[in-house]
Amino acid sequence: MQLYKNQDIKIYNSLSGKKEPFQTITDGYVGMYVCGPTVYSHVHLGNVRTFMSFDMVFRYLKHLGYKVRYVRNITDAGHLENDADEGEDKITKKARLEEIEPMEVVQRYTVDFHNILNTFNFLPPSIEPTATGHIIEQIELIKTIIDNGFGYEVNGSVYFDVHKYNETNNYGILSKRKLEDLIHNTRELDGQSDKKNPQDFALWKKAEPQHIMRWPSPWSDGFPGWHLECTAMSTKYLGNHFDIHGGGMDLKFPHHECEIAQNQAAKGQSPVNYWMHANMLELNGQRMSKSTGNIINPTELLTGHNDKMSKAYSPSVIRFFMMQAGYRSVLDLTDAGLQSSEKGFNRLLEAIKELDTLSPSKIATLDIESWKQKCYDAMNDDFNTPILIAHLFDAVKFINQIKDGSQSLTTTDLESFKTTINTFVFEVLGLTNVTEAASETNTLAGAVNLLIKLRQEARANKNFALSDQIRDELLEAGIQLKDSRDGTSFSVN
Ligand code: AMP
Ligand code: ZN
Repeated sequence: MQLYKNQDIKIYNSLSGKKEPFQTITDGYVGMYVCGPTVYSHVHLGNVRTFMSFDMVFRYLKHLGYKVRYVRNITDAGHLENDADEGEDKITKKARLEEIEPMEVVQRYTVDFHNILNTFNFLPPSIEPTATGHIIEQIELIKTIIDNGFGYEVNGSVYFDVHKYNETNNYGILSKRKLEDLIHNTRELDGQSDKKNPQDFALWKKAEPQHIMRWPSPWSDGFPGWHLECTAMSTKYLGNHFDIHGGGMDLKFPHHECEIAQNQAAKGQSPVNYWMHANMLELNGQRMSKSTGNIINPTELLTGHNDKMSKAYSPSVIRFFMMQAGYRSVLDLTDAGLQSSEKGFNRLLEAIKELDTLSPSKIATLDIESWKQKCYDAMNDDFNTPILIAHLFDAVKFINQIKDGSQSLTTTDLESFKTTINTFVFEVLGLTNVTEAASETNTLAGAVNLLIKLRQEARANKNFALSDQIRDELLEAGIQLKDSRDGTSFSVN
């Protein structure tokens, strides 16, 4: 494999608030941990965006020739409602509501997560560990934190002593919060807790009798705190100190702040050199979130079966749309935005198809090496995909100019040009040249919507025999109509 180590990457480090030159701990190797999903429901496109940002980082680092160990966990235990230390476990709650085993919930949504990520052409991480598979490691970590004087047990639960920790460390170093402010803001909220202080967080929770997911421990039959799993799994597979830790912006506090505290308390060192945080996807100007219900599921967007967009979009168009924004910017998902990405992406694909028809010339009038370096410079600048895409559109212009003879390239330059475009579009941005999926779906939607209209007309004319025939024959063909107050929609069985 060709090495591009002479590319100097700068990464925006949330810890310092600055772009810093990227220097790996071991030459040529990168250890990267990204907080994975809590598998209690379908992933929404906001989740997809965060994981896509790190898929792109993984792809670029691999392209440069680094040996990357990318660990992305599955949270299948310990994550309570509202990300709090009290309340019901998200997975257990779903299991209770659906009357199935918690592990059935976990299996269903893990499979769903993988299917969605495959649809969007994600590379699999190197290791995908689960919280339930690392209970022993978490218990060992708690023992060390207690031994080092930073954890205490009350009634079978163990808490991290944030005040004690802050005497010799800086709790708030990542999120730029001050413990005094946190004390001021949380004093009222946490009345009947066993904690010494409301800012303390759970390392181990004693399970209530109805809590099904439980494991034996020196303190009680219970379950680990949510923050602990990431410290246990990241250090197990990447060591006590590794290169990159990523996640969505919303995880910076308390989740990542607590990971730093746990690592300092257990291992005497900060875990990570570069903390990277991906920004949020919004829908209609508001953050996409499971708890508020302001979400659109990937399948709804891919099939066009939703009331927010005018049509279906292909996975690569959605990916292109997301890559047109920097990973640190907020991105609003809109129909107009997706439509313009679709046009742009199709233009790019059309131009790529022309590449093989271009003939070389004896002289080059375009400086392809400098254009190529601009593409690298964009990615080297904290993975600036929007600028990279702007350079790819310059390439579209060049292709058209070479075609009409106003510019030319030599054989060698033309080869380098082709390789660079293909590398950035398909290998680094992870796009594919398949756009048919959405157009097929759109054709189907067009046809079914026409039948729905004819059925409405039949009903209006009291021709119920015809309206029933349309419904029944569509059902036989695997298309189910659903009538509601807002009109008729359909699903494909
Ligand atoms: P969860 O399954 O809720 O733990 O979330 C999985 C990942 O998705 C985390 O890294 C979150 O930060 C991220 N995430 C959640 N909501 C959004 C959003 N609206 N936009 C981008 N990322 C999100
Ligand atoms: Zn995590």
